[in-house]
Amino acid sequence: MTVIQEIQADLAEMVGFPTVSNRPVTELAAHLAQRAEDLGLRVERFDDPDQDGKCTVIAVAGPGPGPDGEGLTITGHMDVVPTEGQPWSSDPFALTERDGRLYGRGTADMKGFLASTHAALARIPVARLRRPLALVWTHDEEIGCLGSAKLVEAWRRDGRILPRACLVGEPTDFRILRMHPGHVAVELELSGVAAHSSRPDLGVNAIEAAARVVEQIRQLAEELRSERADLPELERPFVAVNVARIEGGSAVNIVPDRCVITMGYRPLPGMEPTEPWSRLLERLERLDPPVQLEGRIQRITPSMLTPEGTRLQAQLAPHASAPGCGAAGFATDGGNLAALGLQPLVFGPGSIDVAHKADEHVSIDALAKATDVVGALIQGRCL
Ligand SMILES: [Zn+2]
Repeated sequence: MTVIQEIQADLAEMVGFPTVSNRPVTELAAHLAQRAEDLGLRVERFDDPDQDGKCTVIAVAGPGPGPDGEGLTITGHMDVVPTEGQPWSSDPFALTERDGRLYGRGTADMKGFLASTHAALARIPVARLRRPLALVWTHDEEIGCLGSAKLVEAWRRDGRILPRACLVGEPTDFRILRMHPGHVAVELELSGVAAHSSRPDLGVNAIEAAARVVEQIRQLAEELRSERADLPELERPFVAVNVARIEGGSAVNIVPDRCVITMGYRPLPGMEPTEPWSRLLERLERLDPPVQLEGRIQRITPSMLTPEGTRLQAQLAPHASAPGCGAAGFATDGGNLAALGLQPLVFGPGSIDVAHKADEHVSIDALAKATDVVGALIQGRCL
């Protein structure tokens, strides 16, 4: 089999597992574990402690990672985004080739990269690696990098480490991205006092209180927007804020006693993720008359900021489609992995522009190139 046939067969099998984030990844995880074992790596599974059918696959070769950080970590996610309501020209879970491109859900984001990594490893004497190599295949990346968050939490507790240089093979059209914003989701629950609408003086309207809170969020968003970060890589170098959902009230003749606002914001690379949240709470505490509210952070997806000029960057540079480093507009598992001391760079085949849409695809040439790049990296860092 040629490299391309090999990648295509592997990718066809992986696309056939409909690993949409709300479904189990067990079958794909088993496939990846088997592939890694066949390639001579040692495999470990990290099961999600909170839900069945979800796990991260870790496959290692060479000596164990040391404090010098040498070697290479390669990471990708197994889950894909849904296809419902999208006008696909062919079955999204059956790999289809047209005009040198491979179509199917996950081809670009990011099962194609996984297949390229396998093909690269098949051409390397894995048993002879002198420095550590680790593959980390995560779950539930698309819904907030949940798999990597749980892995990192457990591994930090246990004092486990990975090689410091980390390639996150997301589709970047072979641009090197060293940073991205994070995402924080929060919920604000306003309490009022219910009353019949004919006697409003006996009630406290929670929706009216929510309206005042939304106005504060809007003002903070404006303030944040004017505080531009000195990160020229970012297309939008400010904390983006979104009031996403509001829910409250029960009937037209009742003063509502409860209203819940869900909002999200995107902390900048390197920023303490809860800082904007603290600023909002300060504003809300100053409201006069006061509002009765309870605020909770629902989820923090960390930002990522890897310093300019790492050796991995220099090794990727000759293969990159643009000089220097850029920023991703989307969050990746790299944000979580950085908490283990890793220095991730996002770089991979395919385009994020086609990734979550109908007729997602990646070119065969790009996967062949990714195979060469991953092979050269492993040779350069681990052999
Ligand atoms: Zn992705």
